[in-house]
Amino acid sequence: MAPDYDDDDEKKGELGEGADAKFKEFDCPSCNANNPCDPPFGDGDELLCNYCGQDYKVKVSEEGRVKLKEL
Ligand SMILES: [Zn+2]
Repeated sequence: MAPDYDDDDEKKGELGEGADAKFKEFDCPSCNANNPCDPPFGDGDELLCNYCGQDYKVKVSEEGRVKLKEL
């Protein structure tokens, strides 16, 4: 059976809420590739696009929206 910590919220692929939200995937702003992430990432993490190799710094807003800043 699946653990029940993943309650079906309005957005898929997210764990947690607001600025503490964690995400299991992201869409690269440079090449639009979808990158799955394991373990999930959150505010302050750094991401690497597996397709174009661009690095990003993650910022999660209080609304739980991801912003990626190119490094
Ligand atoms: Zn990319």
